[in-house]
Amino acid sequence: MLHHERLKPPSHDYPADEWNVIEKRFRPEFLAQSETMLALGNGYLGIRGCPEEGGPNAENATLINGFYEIRPILYGEDAYGFAKTGQTICSVTDSKIVKLFVDDEPFWLPNANLLSYDRRLNMRSGTLDREVIWETPAGKQVSIVSRRLVSFANRHVAAISYCVTLLNADAFVVISAEMVANGTSARVDSEDPRQTRAFSRRVLHPRAHYSNDRRIVLCHATEKSRLLLTCATESALETPCANTYKVAHTEDFGQVAFTIEARRGCPIQLTKYMVYQTSATASAEELCGRAEWTLDRIASQGFQQLLASQEQYVSDFWRRSDVQVKDVREERTKRTTVEVQQAIRFNLFHILQAAARAEDVGVPAKGLTGQAYEGHYFWDTEIYLLPFLTYTSPSIAKNLLDFRYRMLPQARARARQLGHRGAMFPWRTINGEEASAYYAAGTAQYHINADIMYALRKYVQATGDERFLRDCGAEMLVETARLWLDLGFYSDAKGGKFCINAVTGPDEYNTVVNNNAYTNLMARENLRYAAQTVESLREKEPDAFKALEHKVSLESLEVAAWLRAADNMYVPNDGKRKIIPQDDSFLDREPWDFRNTPLDHYPLLLFYHPLNIYRKQVIKQADVVLAMFLLGDAFPPETKKRNFDFYDPFTTGDSSLSSCVEAIIAAQIGDMDKAIRYGMAALLMDLADVGGNVKDGCHIASMGGTWMMLAYGFGGMRDDGGTLSFWPRRAPQDNAILRFPVTYRGQIVGIEIGLEKVEYTLREGERLKIRHEKEEIHLTKEHPVAVRLVSRR
Ligand code: BGC
Repeated sequence: MLHHERLKPPSHDYPADEWNVIEKRFRPEFLAQSETMLALGNGYLGIRGCPEEGGPNAENATLINGFYEIRPILYGEDAYGFAKTGQTICSVTDSKIVKLFVDDEPFWLPNANLLSYDRRLNMRSGTLDREVIWETPAGKQVSIVSRRLVSFANRHVAAISYCVTLLNADAFVVISAEMVANGTSARVDSEDPRQTRAFSRRVLHPRAHYSNDRRIVLCHATEKSRLLLTCATESALETPCANTYKVAHTEDFGQVAFTIEARRGCPIQLTKYMVYQTSATASAEELCGRAEWTLDRIASQGFQQLLASQEQYVSDFWRRSDVQVKDVREERTKRTTVEVQQAIRFNLFHILQAAARAEDVGVPAKGLTGQAYEGHYFWDTEIYLLPFLTYTSPSIAKNLLDFRYRMLPQARARARQLGHRGAMFPWRTINGEEASAYYAAGTAQYHINADIMYALRKYVQATGDERFLRDCGAEMLVETARLWLDLGFYSDAKGGKFCINAVTGPDEYNTVVNNNAYTNLMARENLRYAAQTVESLREKEPDAFKALEHKVSLESLEVAAWLRAADNMYVPNDGKRKIIPQDDSFLDREPWDFRNTPLDHYPLLLFYHPLNIYRKQVIKQADVVLAMFLLGDAFPPETKKRNFDFYDPFTTGDSSLSSCVEAIIAAQIGDMDKAIRYGMAALLMDLADVGGNVKDGCHIASMGGTWMMLAYGFGGMRDDGGTLSFWPRRAPQDNAILRFPVTYRGQIVGIEIGLEKVEYTLREGERLKIRHEKEEIHLTKEHPVAVRLVSRR
């Protein structure tokens, strides 16, 4: 059965709500899924959506981006150049625990008599809110209202407001604010290679622990990666009821337990401030001091101030990023439109949570919502996330590119190790070194080098940040161009063309192939952009050129050699079918027997030996089709259509990175049924658990892909040549209008695709030139421009 036929309209039972993802009942069977979906994060710190009471949990994790432990990668048969050291993100001290006892009865969700329950990811305030009424076995009714946030404005800070009110009686209440280190570990319950490996021993080794009144500080270090972590909490109680408290702490545990004589109707308000600091260089003493300074500041400001800054940050994000779908005609479809709107915001909000404060680090494949893929950074960031960030939050995009720049020394060393010139970025990493233990679907994905340069170009074109290009980008361009030149060769067998052999393209079901079309096309761009950048520096900024020349020991003939390789790049071509073969051998393979593949045998990687997969014509994820999206200008619509129609039947969509791209090309070639089918699968990938593994974390790349699908697919946005243009199609829903902002060169343009016309408004800025199809449009602040839509479905 083909991928799109397998895609039933995905559904979930979260109520339709534009701004919230609401859990109306406590459902222990969906614990793991909701921990992921209701996770909070700010790109530095992430807390899975586990309840405050310390359980029940499926995978209780508090994660810090880039906080990892290393371990040897053991191979049955080792070989030269294999990555030797694994890097695994590890769960840090769990500081969110607030246990509640009423007349000595614990509040424990699975057996609590809940008179009401509502928990929601509030995407307007950036909080996880819960309101429950619990009836104790003795019939006392207790209202518990809590609000949790991981602060965007204060990178190291999280906080919980937890308010308990006895509704129908007085009672003795204990609220215990706790923190636990080494209490949790990653869940590994299968042979699924995508999941993380658990550590068998404790990961966090105690360095210091102390308390000061209701403040507790625990400091730990990892053994091998030598990273230091301090977690400090402060708990404050406000209530008219009489109360006392006790403080206790050990190496791995801290507790402030309040005992309160609760009176009916009197609120008991606990506020817990949590601070995390990590360092590779500071001493334990210093790091604890830093955490305390942060605590001093935020505890004196109070929760309301934290909340206000959170709301402000999130509202700024939506101003720059919100994609809206509005139903304009039919009552009948309004609900669906709200569901679509909710899904769009859910995706974008999780990207914010994954990337907002990713400073000096990358964005893990699962963000900070789970430990799968070990907290590693992949090409997902550059190809799937950076377009959205570049056009909505360019400063975050810059941080991420800058992080790659700082990885150059390791990338150079890795290139040397593999006998290459230039620099070779790791396929998966946290600390800059290659951590992929399976080279065929890892290190062999050389395309990541061109992907990073592709993202760099998009960023520079959209922002005009020539300075970054000059100071950092140029060096990366030179080194990656050198890599390509070194990797490829002029092949007599291919008429003297420049060929690149033994690489793996994006499609991990065809590995170590010759002339993967995607790789060759992207490498060509990389070589040309490198040449163009160096030449332009030579002409326009001689000093910067000299500095670069010196830094990278540029030789006089290098640029010409890059251009020659680019101009002679071999791009596979099949004259008979008039398509681009994915690589030199793809067309020779026997087609996969889709008819006899049981539906429960997807993803294939979990049910078939790699060799069974590699020798067949079967595709994990968009490859040629992705190239046709990324390098859209190079392919006329008929070529896109022919290739899409050819590859679609072989594409399993076993990677979540596929559906969004298929949706875009389907929309571009006017196959709206498939565009919507794939589009909905991408949009609901996590909310409706399309891949069945949301328990392990959100699919952040696919989430970024949903924005691309809306902006580039339905919104018809194009930016290949450096000019922003729009060839709009229509909203993903009938009778709906699609509206989204794009930040371009420091200005914000709003695009609204209505049923009959499209309207462009300069929301922020003075004047901007864009294009509607081929027509130039000059926007000024006071003058929106409307154009009639000619071609609708
Ligand atoms: C995909 C890769 C992706 C990785 C992390 C794999 O399943 O095939 O393209 O980079 O997941 O998201």
